[in-house]
Amino acid sequence: MKRLILSTLALSTCTLAIAAAPPTFSTQRLSAEVKTLSSDAFEGRGPATPAETRTIDYVVAQMKAAGVQPGGDIVDGKRTWTQAVPLLRSAIVGTPALTLTIDGKPQALTQGEQIAVRAPTNGSDSVTIADAPLVFVGYGVKAPERQWDDYKGVDLHGKIAVVLINDPDFETGKGDFGGKAMTYYGRWTYKYEEAARQGALGMLVIHETAPASYGWATVKNSNTNTMFDIVRDKPAEVHPELEGWIQRDLAVTMFKGAGLDFEALKQKAQTRDFRPVVLKGESLSAHFKADTKVITSHNIVGRVEGSKRPDETVIYSGHWDHLGVGAPDAKGDRIYNGAVDNATGTAALIELGRAFAHGPRPQRSVIFLNVTAEEKGLLGSEYYAANPLYPLAKTAGVLNVDALDPHGPARNFTISGSARLGLLDDLIAAAKSYGMVYTPDPKPEAGYFFRSDHFSFAKRGVPAVSFGSGNDWVDGGIAAGKAAEDDYTEKRYHQPADEWQADWSFTGMARDLQLLYTVGNDLANSDAWPDWSKDSEFRAIRDKSAAERK
Ligand SMILES: [Zn+2]
Repeated sequence: MKRLILSTLALSTCTLAIAAAPPTFSTQRLSAEVKTLSSDAFEGRGPATPAETRTIDYVVAQMKAAGVQPGGDIVDGKRTWTQAVPLLRSAIVGTPALTLTIDGKPQALTQGEQIAVRAPTNGSDSVTIADAPLVFVGYGVKAPERQWDDYKGVDLHGKIAVVLINDPDFETGKGDFGGKAMTYYGRWTYKYEEAARQGALGMLVIHETAPASYGWATVKNSNTNTMFDIVRDKPAEVHPELEGWIQRDLAVTMFKGAGLDFEALKQKAQTRDFRPVVLKGESLSAHFKADTKVITSHNIVGRVEGSKRPDETVIYSGHWDHLGVGAPDAKGDRIYNGAVDNATGTAALIELGRAFAHGPRPQRSVIFLNVTAEEKGLLGSEYYAANPLYPLAKTAGVLNVDALDPHGPARNFTISGSARLGLLDDLIAAAKSYGMVYTPDPKPEAGYFFRSDHFSFAKRGVPAVSFGSGNDWVDGGIAAGKAAEDDYTEKRYHQPADEWQADWSFTGMARDLQLLYTVGNDLANSDAWPDWSKDSEFRAIRDKSAAERK
């Protein structure tokens, strides 16, 4: 089918009766929903706070009015609107006692300054480590499909592994880990998981700004406060007892103290024959208690049941939570309203729900999954993917929306990260009808692919992308789009000033939703199963469930 390329002005008034023309999305509704969700009354939508109840009540009422059905947990034989998400909350009590001993000389380390240790999420409520030896394990990567193993069978029981951030070819831009782009092996979450699998007592990640893609302030702010994880049967299988970061300067001192050269060993770590190196004569002690508690938050789940293959699912996802109430900004504002991040995505799910509920019934079922606790580490999506309400093997694809642009339309769009998969091909093909082109993630080395809710699905093999609004504005081009992007990053992103603005037109978002509707609707009416590209690290795990899709 050939779609007309519509000029942006004609969009809202277009009445051409093309059979499969996408529905129009109301900019008024989008604006009103974003305005409500990001108003001070919603207190920045912190999970497991009174604001959660308010948010759920509002989103559910909107979804109901839009004609969407509940798709959550089954209670008394009936689907409810939510999925309960139990979360482990852990906070260090007081100041942690941390001591590094070099050459017999103990030196106290200051939490937040040279080191940042996380409250334990391994199921324990205290950390008691006395003089544990330190072992440098390079990038801490064990990747059999790339014939790469930094551990080489080293025994890490009772020891602390010290590791570099990003993956072995970040520095050179050439090699087996996607060049500059970050693979999952480069992400700190992977490194801690692998340390636990290796039986290490703990792991310290050496912070360097370029390969981490953010500064020490971010490391400090996101690791020395309250930690959250989903409640796991065996948390110690993915979390070592001690998880922390150290500043590069401290690492250099530690290497020197052991008679080693940090830069030389880092270069060595970029090769296959790297072997773990003991930091001779050095040890770490850590003593602190944690206040741990299980709290319950919720994912909101709406559904439009498929007409032909209801057991097959297409998911639109996006998080409802934001940072809640926190430290005041210069104006004394303490409410982190999260208008762009992610009231826009939440409004998008409501309006996509309305489009599917009112449009021709799709053959596959479509889920509108408004997840919690994204800001605490993608936990709502992780919980859903670990405890899926509808089988992942028969989930055809996930289209995630997070922080859509509320301004005018752009000539391009992007996705987080540089993964290649059929869903992206579908997006690119459909975008042509809207006169839009795909612009690759300009900074795949920052690892945004692993920092958005679609990743909880991707790592389990489900084809999943996070859609990103474009920056080449129809009105003003790249200059205008980039200026707005920079303004947002600098003045609003994760700050109390991420607030609804009266001059937002929402015309770009309405157009982006047409594109997302088209791709999701085509997938929901297809019997195809788009896959990852042949060289993707997620393809093998998807293949394991291939028999269920016959
Ligand atoms: Zn977000």
